[in-house]
Amino acid sequence: MDFRFSPEEENFRQEVAAFLKKEGPKEWHKRKVSFFDMSGQENWIAVHRDMSRKLGAKGWLSLHWPKEYGGKELSPFYRLILREELAKYHCPGYHSLSVDFVAPAILLKGSDELKKRFLPGIASGEVMWCEGLSEPGHGSDLAAIETFAKEDGDFYVVNGQKIWTTYAHFADWMFLLARTDRNAERNYRGLTFFLVDMKTPGITVNPIINMAGHHDFNEVFLDDVRIPKENIVDAVNKGWYVAMSVLDNERTSDLGYAIAGTLLDDIIEGAKEMDMLNARNKIRMAELYTECEIARLTHYHVTWMLSQGKPLDYYAAICKLLGFEAIQHVAEFGLEVFKNYGILSDHSPLAPLYGRISSCYLRSFGHSMEAGTSEMDRDVIAQRGMGLPRLR
Ligand SMILES: Cc1cc2nc3c(=O)[nH]c(=O)nc-3n(C[C@H](O)[C@H](O)[C@H](O)COP(=O)(O)OP(=O)(O)OC[C@H]3O[C@@H](n4cnc5c(N)ncnc54)[C@H](O)[C@@H]3O)c2cc1C
Repeated sequence: MDFRFSPEEENFRQEVAAFLKKEGPKEWHKRKVSFFDMSGQENWIAVHRDMSRKLGAKGWLSLHWPKEYGGKELSPFYRLILREELAKYHCPGYHSLSVDFVAPAILLKGSDELKKRFLPGIASGEVMWCEGLSEPGHGSDLAAIETFAKEDGDFYVVNGQKIWTTYAHFADWMFLLARTDRNAERNYRGLTFFLVDMKTPGITVNPIINMAGHHDFNEVFLDDVRIPKENIVDAVNKGWYVAMSVLDNERTSDLGYAIAGTLLDDIIEGAKEMDMLNARNKIRMAELYTECEIARLTHYHVTWMLSQGKPLDYYAAICKLLGFEAIQHVAEFGLEVFKNYGILSDHSPLAPLYGRISSCYLRSFGHSMEAGTSEMDRDVIAQRGMGLPRLR
């Protein structure tokens, strides 16, 4: 297999790098802020939105969409290159929930009318989305969700609660999975996928502060929320299949290896400056570098599968597991290298990498849960990849 990029792709990488150097938030670059701890930065939502509009104006949020909907019909490798460079330049603005989770689902299963209504706002970086799937008690067991949508003329009226809803506090729209049939033969056959305007009366968003002290996710209450029927993706009681396509995209969207690799480079640079490298951590560095490389090449393989229209199946789980665990291992290594300095937050002038080690470490625990837990990923790989029996 030839892993080299084409000359056109290399040119695109250079174009992106030059653009991000000029237009990316300089302070974020200096402070080496990563995608997963950006919410610790002052005024971060405004910075994220501003950068998103800039990426949208370049046409970079819809690189591989059909031209008919504002895309450039390029291979998914262009998106991968963009995201590698965003990680390298510590640059925000790529709102995966909109670009990689909901947009492909609308493209795949949405009506022409939904495509025309919703895709331009995502492509321009103007409209931001959040994901209303998990509920208290129903995360891994998603098919058992209880939020109920009752038919009422041209509307469905929704009541229930969602949890861990990332960025619901500033999202304009939410994609929501709700039960529309309580008597379906199988749980998953009674679910419908809705697109919900977050300004609709009856929606309450309460913050949940994560271990790193940042506000990323929320609990969302839905009380008699009226959703027009035209906002259903695919059809009533067909929502499970839409949600599954979203989850496959979610597991392959964020490039864990690129985020981990950038953090590893930053740790090495910081450790050299503070003269904190020793023989033991040099060996660990080589191991982590190897881990990031394996995750990177696996991601390239999955991107190639996407470019060929091949179903990802358990490869989406491999991709997420390798990339996100690499971030966890590198963050843990940061603490090992910088010892007590590593636990200092950005309030301390002595904190290495502006306190990023402690915040990345604390945030990294969530990587074993989000987009499906690591245990579930391993279960999928064992069952579908290796033909082993279910765990339970
Ligand atoms: C940072 C972060 C952001 C998130 N953002 C969103 C979001 O925007 N929108 C959204 O809808 N959700 C979001 N989530 C929720 C996420 O999808 C769930 O946390 C996840 O699906 C796990 O569900 P749960 O929390 O209910 O845990 P549970 O499903 O209760 O799992 C608890 C433990 O039991 C294990 N377990 C459960 N079932 C099995 C099984 N069958 N086999 C083996 N082990 C099992 C799990 O692996 C886990 O260790 C987010 C979570 C995190 C951490």
